[in-house]
Amino acid sequence: MPTKKMLWAGGSALTIGIALTGAASVSYPRRLAFDLFFPKSTFFHGNRRSPEIAITFDDGPHPIYTPAILDILNQFGIKGTFFMTGLNTELYPEIARQVYAGGHDIGNHSYSHPKLPFCSTTRIKRELHQTDLILRETLGIIPTLFRPPYGFRDWRVLRQAQQMGYTSIFWDITTYDWERPGVEKIVERTVPTRNGSILLFHDGRGDRSQTVKAIEIVIDRLLKKGYTFRTIGQLLQNQ
Ligand SMILES: [Zn+2]
Repeated sequence: MPTKKMLWAGGSALTIGIALTGAASVSYPRRLAFDLFFPKSTFFHGNRRSPEIAITFDDGPHPIYTPAILDILNQFGIKGTFFMTGLNTELYPEIARQVYAGGHDIGNHSYSHPKLPFCSTTRIKRELHQTDLILRETLGIIPTLFRPPYGFRDWRVLRQAQQMGYTSIFWDITTYDWERPGVEKIVERTVPTRNGSILLFHDGRGDRSQTVKAIEIVIDRLLKKGYTFRTIGQLLQNQ
């Protein structure tokens, strides 16, 4: 019977994956079968019955784009979540502290941004641990949120994160802002946002001037649609 059960589990994963992501091409990554084995520590969105959403930024801190994004979030009086790499936190500790002091959530985004499933288990541990220590030392916090670079994950990555007390956070809305498709395209790709959505943007590792311009429009539109912006921590409390 275990074979049947496994098949069934795989089928469910596929069904749920399709249900979660729908037909919208902006919804990536799809939930994979093994994600289901980490139900309490892997999230792609918040509560679908509540008009609360989260805006998240990966790859910072960055000396120009992170402060620019903070200014916009402040302007609207909303809080975001920043998944920082250990390397950039070491390079720009003051910017990291500025983010934290602003009341935003902070997450671990690995040390050097590798594709973790292609790394040895030792390297995976080191990437998470090093950044964990850097965030603790720089900000005086115990980080609990993790997002693997590119959203790439396997059993080892999710298990390691879970063992370290991390909740792995993915997204259901991405605009591919890192490809710099133009402000208009970035804005347009947030249209499928719905209750509980987690939006992915980038504040580091490249020219993010389009992202900065786009989020001002996106936030304004989503607030007018009646959504409330929450940090990931707050979104998870309202499951
Ligand atoms: Zn990244």
